[in-house]
Amino acid sequence: MGAVKGRFAPSPSGRMHLGNLLSFLLSWLSARAAGGTVVLRVEDLDPLRCRPAYARQLMEDLVWLGLDWDEGGDIPAYWQSNRGHLYTRAFEALESQGLVYPCFCSRAERLNEAPHGHEVSPSCPCAALAPEEVQAKLAQKAPSWRLRVPHKIISFTDGCQGPYSQDLWRDCGDFPIKRSDGAWAYQLAVVVDDADMAVTQVVRGRDLLSSTPRQLFLYEALGLTPPEFYHVPLLLAPDGRRLAKRDADLDMGALRQQHSPEELVGILGRMAGLLDRPEPISAAQLAKSFSWAKVSREDVTVDAALLAP
Ligand code: GLU
Repeated sequence: MGAVKGRFAPSPSGRMHLGNLLSFLLSWLSARAAGGTVVLRVEDLDPLRCRPAYARQLMEDLVWLGLDWDEGGDIPAYWQSNRGHLYTRAFEALESQGLVYPCFCSRAERLNEAPHGHEVSPSCPCAALAPEEVQAKLAQKAPSWRLRVPHKIISFTDGCQGPYSQDLWRDCGDFPIKRSDGAWAYQLAVVVDDADMAVTQVVRGRDLLSSTPRQLFLYEALGLTPPEFYHVPLLLAPDGRRLAKRDADLDMGALRQQHSPEELVGILGRMAGLLDRPEPISAAQLAKSFSWAKVSREDVTVDAALLAP
């Protein structure tokens, strides 16, 4: 196997929380333990939610934690808002294969677009519109654009979760690659960028496991080589919800007031199954004994005891 290249792919829509940190720590450890490099790409596709100030803050938070990168960061070419020309080229390549169609449904428009959005039902009535109907509708409304998916089972082995398969048509359906307001969808951008940046391993939260077959289908349709995937446990609030940026008590602002970087790495290392107890340790030190075999597959409920240094 060639050189390992991992990545951080944060969406700058708020301060990072403990769950984001766990994914980034594991991504960094995995790349560094293999002697590899790390790229930081800013996923600021959604102009309504993303702010440059959040991106700068999260880079500062990563550095504070001891997680560095070799490529990207504040370089504009690594911000998705500046990479539309690459997404346009991929869109055209898909269109030339007859895989893209305009969708005029307002119901589905807001679903399935965010990485963590819900799925929609397989069939979209717009897939069956006659060319004249499409022309008439285009004159009235800006469409979103969907990718036509085949009846196909997509299987792969996740480096953390093990074998996974999905019937693309039944479990996911035709999915949007561009919104009606012109914003590119996460699924398309992430594939184009990971391939363009020559990323060899994607480490991210388990909530994105079900997006991976869609992305593998895009890799295949675009003639690109997919990376390896590692979907890591999620951190849950005591009531069972996935931690979100709105859980301000567990965001980096609060965490930095209460813990040193080494304490926080120790806490995260224990949550991930890498340490038996939350001893303070630097990320660089933890990389020395890192192995995916030790990383737990189970989601972790975060309570006060786990946060005690
Ligand atoms: N930017 C995405 C997020 O914040 C991560 C996408 C990925 O890791 O593939 O959830």
